[in-house]
Amino acid sequence: MEFETKAIHVGQEPESSTGSTIVPIYQTSTYTQEALGKHKGYEYSRTGNPTRAALETALAALENGKYGLCFASGLAATTTVLCLLKAGDEIVAGDDLYGGTIRLFDRVFSNFNIKVNYVDGRNPKNFESGITANTKLIWLETPTNPMLRLCDIKAISQISKAKNLLLCVDNTFASPYFQKPLDLGADIVVHSTTKYLGGHSDVVGGAVILNNKETYEKVKFYQNAIGGTPGPFDSWLVLRGIKTLAVRMKKHEENAMKIAEFLEKHSKVKKVHYPGLKSHPQHELAKKQMSGFGGMISIEINGDKEATKKIIESTKLFSLAESLGGVESLINHPFTMTHVGVPAEHKARLGIVENLIRLSVGIEDTNDLIEDLKQALA
Ligand SMILES: *Cc1c(COP(=O)(O)O)cnc(C)c1O
Repeated sequence: MEFETKAIHVGQEPESSTGSTIVPIYQTSTYTQEALGKHKGYEYSRTGNPTRAALETALAALENGKYGLCFASGLAATTTVLCLLKAGDEIVAGDDLYGGTIRLFDRVFSNFNIKVNYVDGRNPKNFESGITANTKLIWLETPTNPMLRLCDIKAISQISKAKNLLLCVDNTFASPYFQKPLDLGADIVVHSTTKYLGGHSDVVGGAVILNNKETYEKVKFYQNAIGGTPGPFDSWLVLRGIKTLAVRMKKHEENAMKIAEFLEKHSKVKKVHYPGLKSHPQHELAKKQMSGFGGMISIEINGDKEATKKIIESTKLFSLAESLGGVESLINHPFTMTHVGVPAEHKARLGIVENLIRLSVGIEDTNDLIEDLKQALA
């Protein structure tokens, strides 16, 4: 079955007792048992809920994985995966990560004596050099947020397999429509379903997808034991979102490509970071491991902080907001918004400068979006 069909049908058969075509929102915390211990597979909604189960099945299918688990947020998903580790264990992580992930690593898990060794993820060899006798997990994002750098998933998975480590890939930016890390050798995929999977900026959620049964059982145990699970309505919103993921991603990409080309020629723009551009240093890798380049663009402005602020505050269609991946276009200042909690030297190392702007290109009309940027840059 192809991607578009899976997104609409897998885990989403008509409901048997009423014929409801759409998976109902099972807004219940508990389930009535016929007799002691005799039930239909559900006992309590933290442990399992039919709406959530439908989403978990569908997301696993979209990532070509066997098992899916859903969470109340992307960070709840990440937290639960990190519970596979214990005190003294180490993580080797790509250094260009979602700001909240860095905050979770550096300010929460560090308290439990889990150390993170950050490396420049553009060269797979750096991951190898970062491994110590205590390393248990390799963590990466690709393309990265906000610098749109790439990590070679296949090459890094060979390193992790050789050393018997787990490789976890945060696939939020590409979405499974453009990139399938499990097919490329990753062990675990993490998502913030808040972004492209939900797609309408109306829900916060997360997911974990994997193939190994033993690891799945452990993460499932922690999902229930820790309790960072999504409610039935939030699960339903993401389930509705993924039905249109394919058509949305195509339009996000079409718009982003045209906007990136427009920006690259603009005199006020010093640099455009977009993996679909030939000028992107890792364009060849993007073509190899992704089937499309996504809807995220970062640009450096020819000018100072004030000039950058003026542009960010002048767009009319691009809303000044955190988050990404919705149908509407957003503009963001990573330095003071999404990455404000990232230590200064970490930001400097990555190139998160004051004149950097991140765009989440929506699915509005291409020319309207270009006109909006044109007037903001004027
Ligand atoms: C938003 C985001 C997260 C965190 O997800 P939440 O749903 O906000 O908790 C993790 N990784 C990436 C790449 C993100 O963009």
